[in-house]
Amino acid sequence: MMTYQTIQDFINLAIENGTIDALDEIYWRNQLLQCVGLSDWAEVDTQSHEKDSLVLMDELMALAAKNGKIEAGNEEFFESALMDFITPKPSQINKTFWTNYEQSPELATASFYKLAKQINQVKTRDIAKNIAFEHETNYGNLEITINLSKPEKDPKLIAAAKLVKATNYPACQLCIENEGYYGHANHPARSNHRIIKCELNGEKWGFQYSPYAYFNEHSILLNEVHQPMEINGRAFANLLAFLDKFPHYMIGSNADLPIVGGSILTHDHYQAGNHAFPMAKAGLKKEVTLAHYPKIKAGIVNWPMSVLRLQSTDKASILEAATDILAKWKLYSDKSLDIKAVSADGTPHHTITPIARMHDGQYEMDLVLRDNNVSSEFPDGIFHPHQKLHHIKKENIGLIEVMGLAILPPRLKTELREVEKYLLDEQNQMAEMHKPWADQLKSTGHFTSENVEEQVRQAVGNVFKEVLEDAGVFKTDATGQAGFDRFVAFLNE
Ligand SMILES: [Zn+2]
Repeated sequence: MMTYQTIQDFINLAIENGTIDALDEIYWRNQLLQCVGLSDWAEVDTQSHEKDSLVLMDELMALAAKNGKIEAGNEEFFESALMDFITPKPSQINKTFWTNYEQSPELATASFYKLAKQINQVKTRDIAKNIAFEHETNYGNLEITINLSKPEKDPKLIAAAKLVKATNYPACQLCIENEGYYGHANHPARSNHRIIKCELNGEKWGFQYSPYAYFNEHSILLNEVHQPMEINGRAFANLLAFLDKFPHYMIGSNADLPIVGGSILTHDHYQAGNHAFPMAKAGLKKEVTLAHYPKIKAGIVNWPMSVLRLQSTDKASILEAATDILAKWKLYSDKSLDIKAVSADGTPHHTITPIARMHDGQYEMDLVLRDNNVSSEFPDGIFHPHQKLHHIKKENIGLIEVMGLAILPPRLKTELREVEKYLLDEQNQMAEMHKPWADQLKSTGHFTSENVEEQVRQAVGNVFKEVLEDAGVFKTDATGQAGFDRFVAFLNE
């Protein structure tokens, strides 16, 4: 009677989670029976035999598939809707979250995160597929991830996507209207998604965990209004307001221009979480004085990209200085370094990737200077990974990578295996684009079947370091740093 016991165990989880009242047990049993294609019942143990929600999910999915309840290609949607059975309603989750919050912000986020994993909204199993390693550099250890967590789209879904009528609802994947949305071929399953309503500076925001987290407790703050991202004083104020509410989390925003921004510029959002990124661990290369802001300790971070770090207990000063630096950066050009604020037609090219955190009781804000100009030599972006690194990384350098965590494409898992074979002089199908890099490695390294995987990983880490150096507007050499000093002098005018 394993089948019925599985259903009973699943219902027990729903009761424990407060999703359903014990009085509703029979009603929900019948709903669940229908869902997995059964119509009878047998006596089972009221005590749970299995408490692992994902094990129960697998068993119920198998049952529903066997009974013909899941259309091919629809597994994702069915699974999400199935987990909705044990997921408390938004009102319940919000109430619990803010009750826990009264005890401590840590308790509120930790319990919500635990639930998000239990209901498979945060897809821990998929995330575990990622390949992750570190690479030691003169900037500290960089973190490298080959991202294998997002499943490849089922060809049937891709075919179905063409037939789905384009709609405007929800307007995008970050809209709050996704909460509980079943999804379709062109829109991911969100039946079990839940959002905590959260106010930042009088604006209405939602807080949720990212399904395919790139780091611990990776969360997304999304504006309740579908409006474009904009880096300005208001955004800085929102980041600092978030720290007042959740001082144990870091928070940052992607830049708001193409090439240097993230993948979604159309919906105002930030990313937060509980992780000390390599950039946060990097110290100052040089202290600088911000003449107009005596309450702030500032410096240039020892980092491949160009980062000004502001520290102070005085939030208003940080906000004022960050806003001022942004305004000045938007005007600042340095022809000798190919840095150009605005093109002749008035198109702006300068913005900032901001990151904020609490550090020893002080507000700490890192302002990463970005420039999205292109040239005939670098048509994809002057301060973007250059052509010779594209065989590893050609995508935008967004917030997470800026902070020293590489998200590399899944194709590399198999491609790097072929590079390893090439380095060992074995028969291989290495892609042509990797050859110049592989030849260079071959000429300088000694490869054995024992060390080749690790050596290739470290070589990939080194490419990521160069990617970040390409994205830096003031290079780390003497010429670049002299340029950085001139910008700081401009700030003090
Ligand atoms: Zn949206």
